[in-house]
Amino acid sequence: MPEKACSTCHLLTTGNVCSRCKTQTLSDDFTGLVIIFDPEGSGIAKVMKIKEKGRYALKVR
Ligand SMILES: [Zn+2]
Repeated sequence: MPEKACSTCHLLTTGNVCSRCKTQTLSDDFTGLVIIFDPEGSGIAKVMKIKEKGRYALKVR
């Protein structure tokens, strides 16, 4: 099953609902993949306002 990216928080998911914000505003039109292991110490996580570990899309259309 192809992954989709949440257009709200950019979290990648294979389901129909974002496991983080419980919305169904998912998009299969995304670019880039960011894996956040350490939200506290990651500059990318800060810029993207990510506070939880996970796999995120860089850009979601
Ligand atoms: Zn989300």
